[in-house]
Amino acid sequence: MPDRVLFTPAAFDESWGQQIYSRVQALDLPIEVLPHNRLTGLRGEDERETYRLAKRTLAVVTAPPSRLKLSPIPPSADWQFHLAEGCPAHCQYCYLAGSLPGPPVIRVFANLPEILSQLPSYEKPGTQTSFEVSCYTDPLGIEHLTGSLAECIRYFGSREQGYLRWVSKFDEVDHLLDLPHKGHTRCRVSVNAAPIATRMEGGTASVPARLQALRRLALPKQEGGGNYPIGLVIAPIMAIEDWQHHYTKLFESISKAIDFDCDLTFELISHRFTPKSKQVLANWYPRSPLEMDEATRQVKRNKFGGTKYVYEPATMKALRQWFEQEIAKRFPKAQVLYWT
Ligand code: SF4
Repeated sequence: MPDRVLFTPAAFDESWGQQIYSRVQALDLPIEVLPHNRLTGLRGEDERETYRLAKRTLAVVTAPPSRLKLSPIPPSADWQFHLAEGCPAHCQYCYLAGSLPGPPVIRVFANLPEILSQLPSYEKPGTQTSFEVSCYTDPLGIEHLTGSLAECIRYFGSREQGYLRWVSKFDEVDHLLDLPHKGHTRCRVSVNAAPIATRMEGGTASVPARLQALRRLALPKQEGGGNYPIGLVIAPIMAIEDWQHHYTKLFESISKAIDFDCDLTFELISHRFTPKSKQVLANWYPRSPLEMDEATRQVKRNKFGGTKYVYEPATMKALRQWFEQEIAKRFPKAQVLYWT
């Protein structure tokens, strides 16, 4: 629950903004409708305080026109779109660090109908087109405040060729189970080995709770489930001490939770960082045990001149082989969508 909920006047005028307003009012949260559409006064005395205040602030805004134009997002999906930017959790390796400007306030978009209305023009005729909605937020982590994820699932249930993908580290899925998704939404949870999940993923649901949520999403309707296609995103995979042992434990928990036939995929993402994300994370989590030593990493450059640090080839190869073998052994029918 945020400490503060801000509405810009433009967001307040939107019908979806009003729906969010009713939700946060029913939760008895303190609401302010701002006099103008700019968010100001979000900084504290220093970086730490700014971080603390921002993470406790929900700002309901309208997505700017730039956000209505979609970008491709390989290898996860054909396109990404956004129902919010920012996340209430505190992962010490957060993917958003350095990729969103300003204090990490959770901005949710009140013009969701307009956002959804843009999507059909990105569908490729005659073939399935996938849309990822979790690039800049954890959509389930804010769903009790917005209802926007359920609305997206309903929307994709009405499409012929459009498919939705979302991923979360939260577990509150009750209200998603009966939605008319028609198999057009793949629900995934992000999981990790216990030393990482318990020490570095503050404010999230535990991994066992996430796996139980995934189980319920996948179970057939007659067993009280949602009958969704599901997926596991194992990320960020880290070569911590005794990593085989810790990730074996994780696979044992996954096998226990998903002990029935279902449409299951895996996505495998090794840990990486950029100079910018390292700098931001060092400010946000100064006492984090997260290893980000450039000297032990391989540098990769993208076509825009950006730099990222990934594991060295030998480590990368050992990790990849082990994960792919483990999945083939335990889940022979599951598809590994990618390793990166
Ligand atoms: Fe960042 Fe994802 Fe963790 Fe949220 S759940 S803090 S977006 S890594």
